[in-house]
Amino acid sequence: MATLPNHARVVIIGGGVIGCSVAYHLAKLGWKDVVLLERKQLTSGTTWHAAGLIAQLRATANMTKLAKYSQELYGNLEEETGVATGFKRVGSITVALTEERKEEIFRQAGMARAFGVAVEEISPDEVKARYEHLNIDGVKAGVYLPLDGQGDPANIALALAKGARMNGAVVAERTKVTKINKSGRRVQSVAWEANGETGTMTCDMIVNCAGMWGHEVGRMAGVNVPLHACEHFYIVTEAIKGLTQMPVLRVPDECAYYKEDAGKMLLGAFEPNAKPWAMKGIPEDFEFDQLPEDFDHFEPILEAAVERMPMLAEAGIHTFFNGPESFTPDDAYHLGLAPEMDNVWVAAGFNSIGIQSAGGAGMALSQWMDAGQKPFDLGDVDISRMQPFQGNKTYLFERSKETLGLLYADHYPYRQKATARGIRRTPFHQHLLENGGVMGELAGWERANWFADEGQNPAYEYSWKRQNFFGNVARELAAVRTNVGMYDMSSFGKIRVEGHDAMAFMNYIGGGDYDVAVGKIVYTQFLNNRGGIEADVTVTRLSETCYLVVTPAATRLADQVWMQRNQGDFNVVITDVTAGEGVLAVMGPNSRKLLESVSPADFSNNTNPFGTAQEIEIGMGLARVHRVTYVGELGWEIYMSSDMAGHVFETLHAAGRDIGMKLCGMHMMDAARMEKGFRHFGHDITCEDHVLEAGLGFAVKTDKPDFIGRDAVLRKRDEGLSQRLVQFKLTDPEPLLYHNEPIVRDGATVGFLSSGGYGHHLGAAIGMGYVPCKGETVADLLASSFEIDVMGTRVKAEAQLKPFYDPKSERVKV
Ligand SMILES: Cc1cc2nc3c(=O)[nH]c(=O)nc-3n(C[C@H](O)[C@H](O)[C@H](O)COP(=O)(O)OP(=O)(O)OC[C@H]3O[C@@H](n4cnc5c(N)ncnc54)[C@H](O)[C@@H]3O)c2cc1C
Repeated sequence: MATLPNHARVVIIGGGVIGCSVAYHLAKLGWKDVVLLERKQLTSGTTWHAAGLIAQLRATANMTKLAKYSQELYGNLEEETGVATGFKRVGSITVALTEERKEEIFRQAGMARAFGVAVEEISPDEVKARYEHLNIDGVKAGVYLPLDGQGDPANIALALAKGARMNGAVVAERTKVTKINKSGRRVQSVAWEANGETGTMTCDMIVNCAGMWGHEVGRMAGVNVPLHACEHFYIVTEAIKGLTQMPVLRVPDECAYYKEDAGKMLLGAFEPNAKPWAMKGIPEDFEFDQLPEDFDHFEPILEAAVERMPMLAEAGIHTFFNGPESFTPDDAYHLGLAPEMDNVWVAAGFNSIGIQSAGGAGMALSQWMDAGQKPFDLGDVDISRMQPFQGNKTYLFERSKETLGLLYADHYPYRQKATARGIRRTPFHQHLLENGGVMGELAGWERANWFADEGQNPAYEYSWKRQNFFGNVARELAAVRTNVGMYDMSSFGKIRVEGHDAMAFMNYIGGGDYDVAVGKIVYTQFLNNRGGIEADVTVTRLSETCYLVVTPAATRLADQVWMQRNQGDFNVVITDVTAGEGVLAVMGPNSRKLLESVSPADFSNNTNPFGTAQEIEIGMGLARVHRVTYVGELGWEIYMSSDMAGHVFETLHAAGRDIGMKLCGMHMMDAARMEKGFRHFGHDITCEDHVLEAGLGFAVKTDKPDFIGRDAVLRKRDEGLSQRLVQFKLTDPEPLLYHNEPIVRDGATVGFLSSGGYGHHLGAAIGMGYVPCKGETVADLLASSFEIDVMGTRVKAEAQLKPFYDPKSERVKV
């Protein structure tokens, strides 16, 4: 055991590939007093037995950036540290056995190009030419990524550990963290045990890199790290005569991946029904362990593989391997500062891609720790996206059965998780179901995404083409555009900011002006000090000393924590009141008429103009109506305490029947907001998107003296914009957009769509995305010819900065 200091700047808990990478990157950044503690030996958890596939393409631009970085880092690590990593750029091929899968992988290829990853779409014959052992019966097409690689996971981790030590980090094996001592929102020290010896080390911060132990280590530190171990299987054959270096091969339709290594073939599986493991805890002596074989479970994969790769029929099986790996509820890993504490960082739950992710995750986390802010948008993996309930072990057990298999499932647009559902229900849940609501899930909330007609199957029938709800959404949108529609928005996060300093605090945290009359609503962003958007919220002044901050469902915790961390000496109390109120949105030209039929209140422009709220009587109950819209129509969001929600729904539903009101879902809302050019946080606007480049300068009031991000806004006004968020509409009504499609300007790819969908009212697919435009006028930019790359075909697109629907907002203020 290395001699341990009494104090560390940072204690990294866990010596798998992730902990080693975090230590490596912090040490490279010049951090002193970096200490990594590993309870057994380095890599003895999950890392040692990984298959070693190192791909570059992920589902989003920034996740791809991180995976690409890993691949580049590993390419140089051997030279830097002298440890052989076995890293080779062997390339990879993914084949499609169905037309639907072909569309998926070809769309991914387009995305890869937009993200700067080398890729080729290849025919079955070209697949065969690159992979002679493959039986190409049923193969529809493939994609080839020439720079994807493979490596030796344990040695990659050991090389990172050596690099960390070379730069001054202490790496101690056989040293278990047994307790984490806290005071308020900060960890003060960790207690350790090593070969019977015990001690305590004070520290400025910790990083939980404990892999499948991450949940338990999180609990020690008072933070929620939702993950669960699952069994993951592969076999390795005996040496096969004549087998030489091959690209990594994935056949997702048969749940299989293949890797040639030293003349042997490794066949691994991501089967649809996975086996969760260690429900009662991981055995204390776990070290380089494997789990019992389960041949019955693996057999269907092997059977298909023998057909697909006939040489396997002759090859003997040398190893049947079953090892545990941790899976998270949404198949994305956890990175960042834990919301519950101010000095506990997390990098855990790597869903079978920890080797390929480790380099990038370590780089991003260390930069975040060093600068105290995210280096770029990490929303896909930021641990603050997790909801408190997701730490529930029974939930994790149920969900983890599905997440492993989802890695190779068809990733259809709008695909919903099938397991661990029904946990957060709004007060209208049963009403929606009774009326044909088809539920989707977000942050645990069940939300009606669309409404089935009578006699129609109230369930998703997934496809990459027009799906079974296409017409339903079109009709829902037509109701909102021409009459009135009602949808449930109870999943909104609702945070009360109350106290003597409420106005001063809001004026510091947000870009808007909150010195407004009681009842006024202010649409707002919380900015970081680079002018990037940390939150996109609507703030209503409820009284002299109280504001209601309404956030998207998935970001309630993150937004609340952002406020708490910036509270300083402001005398305010910040409280989550999400579950206390139901919310129904009534939107459309007849929404005023509908409300007037159920309430004696005055909904005129004089009493309740756009951007104001008022308390009303409704039916025999009470509510508060906010005159705002996310769909671009005259409308109100009706907030009522949960006890009266059923009554208000029934009252509105009955009154709406007389005027042809339609119940609507989230897919309608998404289509409508894109037609109107409204941004969606997490896609179109993130912490790395400057508020002016996002086209939201109107919401920022720089004549206020001091708020977070003010200087960055003023600076950008001086410097000029480097990019702009542009609206697109395809000129051909047929193709569909889902987001991430490349944007082509005058023949060259310049970016990708941050949002995409179908504008049923406009009659074509629409989207938006950033286009670089440094030094250009708007006229220069829009004079270009734009196309969107849909599955390799360039489709002409109209482009404008203004929304395609009602650019002057004439319909909203009537
Ligand atoms: C069969 C299989 C094949 C895989 N193939 C691939 C692949 O091809 N490509 C890919 O990218 N990924 C692959 N993976 C996934 C990859 O192996 C993991 O994502 C990765 O190893 C996770 O690394 P980690 O550092 O988070 O966890 P681990 O390697 O488990 O490290 C966590 C460490 O924390 C230590 N620890 C726990 N508690 C404490 C404590 N209290 N005090 C001190 N130390 C503690 C543990 O002992 C352990 O060593 C595969 C996984 C499996 C199971």
